[in-house]
Amino acid sequence: MAGTGKFFVGGNWKCNGTKDSISKLVSDLNNAKLEADVDVVVAPPFVYIDQVKGSITDRIEISAQNSWVGKGGAFTGEISVEQLKDLGCKWVILGHSERRHIIGEKDDFIGKKAAYALSEGLGVIACVGELLEEREAGKTFDVCYQQLKAFAGKFMLLTTDLKSIFFQGKPNAVPSWDNIVIAYEPVWAIGTGKVATPQQAQEVHVAVRDWLKNNVSAEVASKIRIIYGGSVNGGNCAELAKQEDIDGFLVGGASLKGPEFATIVNSAT
Ligand code: PGA
Repeated sequence: MAGTGKFFVGGNWKCNGTKDSISKLVSDLNNAKLEADVDVVVAPPFVYIDQVKGSITDRIEISAQNSWVGKGGAFTGEISVEQLKDLGCKWVILGHSERRHIIGEKDDFIGKKAAYALSEGLGVIACVGELLEEREAGKTFDVCYQQLKAFAGKFMLLTTDLKSIFFQGKPNAVPSWDNIVIAYEPVWAIGTGKVATPQQAQEVHVAVRDWLKNNVSAEVASKIRIIYGGSVNGGNCAELAKQEDIDGFLVGGASLKGPEFATIVNSAT
C-alpha cells in the first residue's frame, strides 16, 4: 500500500442480477466480516441502486457504473449525477474499458464526465488500461498516460476554466484529488480469467504514480490510491495486495459472490 488512504475495494456488478439475486448478495455482504481499515464500495446496476442502498449496511458505500456529463434534462436514457446523489451514491466508475471499447466512449467525453461528477461532489473511480495488442506492441505505458492525461486535463480545467467544459454554473463542490481513485485495468485481464502477474500490475502502478508526480504534483502522487482490476479473485488477491503500489482492487465477476468478495476486501490484512 503506497497511497495514504485506506485500502479500497470496489465491486463492479456490471449488468448482472435480479431483485432476488441482489437481495441474496446484499444479505451475504451484510453478514460478512469486513476488516475495518478498508473502504468498501459496490456498484449495482442503476435500476437496483435504490434497493441496495435501502438494504445494505452503512459500512459499504454505493457507486454508480456511469453518469451523464452534465446537469439532467432532455437526455433520453441517461442518469444524472444529481439523481445518483439523490439515491445516496458516493462514487461513480468512469472510463471503464467496457464503456470505452464496447460503447465507444472517448477520452475527452470520459474526462468531462469525471470532472462534472467531481464538481458535484461524487468520488470518481477513474479507469485506465491497455488492450492486449497495445501491450504486445510495447504501448502499455503510453496508453495509460494518454487516458490519465484526459482525466487530469479536465480535472485541472475545473479550477481554471469551468465554462469551457460545462454550459452552466459553478461547481457545487471544490474538486479534489482526494476524491479520485485510479483503477488500472488491463483490458486483456478483464473477465478473461487471465490476471496480470503481481509484477506486471506493480510495474504499471508505479508508472501511473510517476506520471501523476510529473504532471500533477508529488503530493497527489504520494496520496492517491491506485487499485488493480482484471480477474481478481479470492485465490490471487493476497499476492497482488502485497505489492507496494497496489492500494486496492476493482472486482467484477468475483464481486457477485459475497464470501469471495469479503476475502478480497480482507486481503491486505
Ligand atoms: P473482472 O472485471 O474482475 O470480472 O475481470 C473487473 C472489472 O471490469 O472491473
